[in-house]
Amino acid sequence: MTSNRTFTMIKPDAVSNGHIGNIINDITSSGFKIIAMKYLHLTQSQAENFYGIHRERPFFKDLVSFMISGPIVAAILEKDNAVEDFRTLIGATNPENAAEGTIRKKYAKSIDANAIHGSDSNENADIESNFFFSSFERF
Ligand code: UDP
Ligand code: MG
Repeated sequence: MTSNRTFTMIKPDAVSNGHIGNIINDITSSGFKIIAMKYLHLTQSQAENFYGIHRERPFFKDLVSFMISGPIVAAILEKDNAVEDFRTLIGATNPENAAEGTIRKKYAKSIDANAIHGSDSNENADIESNFFFSSFERF
């Protein structure tokens, strides 16, 4: 994957609070093109594997429980400088610290239920996209 793609998930809190449409609108009106998208409910082992890098962190168990508490939307997005620009669009991990107008500022309630995921590097964007999508599910 090239540096113009990133991976996102709309997390269970934002899905259950009815924000899918508003968040997708924020994403596409910020210039991101949707390359692939699916609506699914993660299993415990999928959530543990996806967040495996955080396995030793104190919040890991709660994070996994939260991520399997309801369905999510997973997507691959394309734009110049996608990873960095998307992290700017979503805002800080803790919505209390997120800039005005960012997705987490608008739709997240707390540091754990923070509405949306965005890859933090090109390498992780590639790994995370491959976790959810096969090559023939991308356009
Ligand atoms: N998280 C949490 N408590 C913390 C830090 C993180 O519950 O103290 C959760 C939160 O949902 C976050 C995810 O773990 O989005 C991954 O953490 P990371 O530091 O990678 O933040 P992100 O890259 O999502 O901003
Ligand atoms: Mg992260």
